[in-house]
Amino acid sequence: MSDTTRNYVSGQWIESATGETIEVENPARPSEVVARYQDSSTEDATEGVEAAADAADDWAATPGPERGRILREAATLLAERKDELTDLLVAEEGKANAEAGGEVQRAIDIFYHFAVKAAERGGTVKNPSSPNQNLYTIEEPVGVAALITPWNYPIAIPAWKLAPALAAGNTVVLKPASAAPGVAMEIARALDEAGLPDGVLNVVTGSGSVVGTEFIEHDAVDAVSFTGSSEVGEMVYDQATDSGKRVQTELGGKNPTIVADSADPAEAADLVASGAFGVTGQACTACSRAIVHEDVLDEFVAELVDRAESIDIGPGDEHEMGPQVSESELESTLDYVEVAEAEGATLVSGGGIPESSAVESGYFVEPTVFTDVDSEMRIAQEEVFGPLVAVIAVSDFDEALAVANDVEYGLAASIVTDDHTEANRFVREAESGVVKVNDKTTGLELHVPFGGFKRSSSETWREQGDEGLDFYTIEKTVYDNY
Ligand code: NAP
Ligand code: MG
Repeated sequence: MSDTTRNYVSGQWIESATGETIEVENPARPSEVVARYQDSSTEDATEGVEAAADAADDWAATPGPERGRILREAATLLAERKDELTDLLVAEEGKANAEAGGEVQRAIDIFYHFAVKAAERGGTVKNPSSPNQNLYTIEEPVGVAALITPWNYPIAIPAWKLAPALAAGNTVVLKPASAAPGVAMEIARALDEAGLPDGVLNVVTGSGSVVGTEFIEHDAVDAVSFTGSSEVGEMVYDQATDSGKRVQTELGGKNPTIVADSADPAEAADLVASGAFGVTGQACTACSRAIVHEDVLDEFVAELVDRAESIDIGPGDEHEMGPQVSESELESTLDYVEVAEAEGATLVSGGGIPESSAVESGYFVEPTVFTDVDSEMRIAQEEVFGPLVAVIAVSDFDEALAVANDVEYGLAASIVTDDHTEANRFVREAESGVVKVNDKTTGLELHVPFGGFKRSSSETWREQGDEGLDFYTIEKTVYDNY
């Protein structure tokens, strides 16, 4: 029998009045229930928002360095529990141990980073036009921030919203994804133990359409930050703006890597394989389109297939590539394999459930490569969210760029080339929030901004970096004459 985790509201761990729970199964061993969480009601969500509203004035008045001290202490507690958190992340979400450890470390680093920012930020002093005046800005918190997060980076994404929100003096209600809420609850535990005042953070688990909707619609919420699918995010954006809130949505991707004729096919295959198959392809920035010059096509495909077939698949605690998070995500990937074949693409690697004894019952899928893909095909247009890459052949750089931009999404894009002019045209002309030269599409630094173009983002505010604090901040301009 696994534990049942309670909601965290007003500094207390409380049960939902529904008496219902959500079971989280281990996607590598689905018969194993990892934990249970509250399947909360609208009333539970309201209680979370009210607690955040009650705590808002005191937290806003708490000096930045003191807010930073609490974030730093929480980071230290998370660091002390890194192995335990990594195991929980692997058990709930399924990614491989090394990937999960890296993600937990990222969350720790984010809290340390914004602990410093909490002390540093505050406003800007400007030269006044008259001699007896102080002219300056004061940065104030927006108020109550509602954060809604996806399962695929279940600790890093809550961290990269929560740390700047708290650093800037906002109080928070958080709804983590139902598929893997455990590590977000552990952030709450660390902040609680670090001395975060009651009500400053409230975490309510439960379905998005119940808890999320109440967060978005409640009058006391001032800002909504959502990361997840474009389908849900666009609805959330409309709901939140209709109710007058500041809103940021970071959504899906269909990320390309261009392989130019000057590229080393082996190096390009390393970058595409890592971007496409890392974290089982379940990254918003995963490479799902390799746009390859015909002169290097055959060699590149051979190298890519070689990498796909050498990946060790099995439970993430012992293998290189873990399962998909759920049966429905696995089925969605397998459906795209059928769709691609029906549309005339050629399956050159994977496409099914692996046979090895390590993968008997979990939601495992083979790394999959399709060639003969046209840009109009569904696997070249729609986010698959599994380890599947579509190889699209092109005959020159202009065609490569046109294909790269020929999607509704624009999150991350990369090029592998030795041609500096091509690289620079790509940087300027790629319709994408992140562009990389001689790199994979995945992997982000925490001290630079992140966000998408087109359907990948509301394009309102950026996350991470100093820009990540702007969403949680409102500026007041002071003209002080003496
Ligand atoms: P999702 O299905 O859109 O869910 C995201 C969050 O929204 C979950 O907490 C979900 O709750 C909640 N939700 C669902 N319906 C809602 C509603 N009607 N109102 C309010 N909230 C609602 O996304 P996911 O499957 O968790 O994550 C995968 C997606 O996230 C992919 O599309 C990926 O590209 C995207 N993503 C984007 C970024 C980025 O920064 N651009 C980063 C990571 C992932 P439940 O869990 O209870 O359903
Ligand atoms: Mg989903």
